[in-house]
Amino acid sequence: MTTDTDIAANLAAIRARIAEACIRANRDPGAVTLVAVSKTHPQEAVIAALAAGQTIFGENRVQEAQAKFPGLRAGHPSMRLHIIGGLQTNKARDAVAVADVIESIDRPKLAAAIADAMAKTGRRPDCLIQVNTGDEAQKSGIPRAEADAFIRAAHGEYGLPVTGLMCIPPVEGDPRPHFAYLRELAARHGLSVLSMGMSGDFEAAIAEGATHVRVGTAIFGHRPAPA
Ligand SMILES: *Cc1c(COP(=O)(O)O)cnc(C)c1O
Repeated sequence: MTTDTDIAANLAAIRARIAEACIRANRDPGAVTLVAVSKTHPQEAVIAALAAGQTIFGENRVQEAQAKFPGLRAGHPSMRLHIIGGLQTNKARDAVAVADVIESIDRPKLAAAIADAMAKTGRRPDCLIQVNTGDEAQKSGIPRAEADAFIRAAHGEYGLPVTGLMCIPPVEGDPRPHFAYLRELAARHGLSVLSMGMSGDFEAAIAEGATHVRVGTAIFGHRPAPA
């Protein structure tokens, strides 16, 4: 079990490694935002991280986010929640209601549903386009070949507040070419946010220009295997 003390110590260690990776890459040590991925871990773990000064969190399931986060907002006005997991269109409205950032916009139908939910609720969380940089069949994200057109449509046709891109490289192999590809794609579209890098590869992502890293296991410990 990961205790509150472990969470505080893990956060401090990750923050130090982020700052060191920035310095190695000749970047400002404050240039990278840590998104603490609390999925599957109880609300107590989020509270321990908040007590240790962490304010930005990531959840991959909307329902779990709804159970854990709204109750914490009043006491933690600077807290921000990123939805980072694959979204069904019927969850668009709940996602727009609960999130400050939605990182997983990956297809026209979802973009349309998110735009519709924004119009109805008046909330406009920042949006990232998730790119399937490895073109893996089982993975969410827009395929490489469709990425340019979809990024333009998300902005133009759907009017989403798109601020950047997100990717999850294939488990096998060097992630760096995937991170570099995402950086170049974002630059072509004038997008400043690059959400890339997880527990195992965030330093490589920082070397390739990540502005946000999403770290779960290295902060909160191992997740129970899915049932
Ligand atoms: C779970 C998850 C993470 C965190 O992964 P760790 O390897 O535990 O750091 C990052 N991004 C996404 C999209 C995730 O689903």
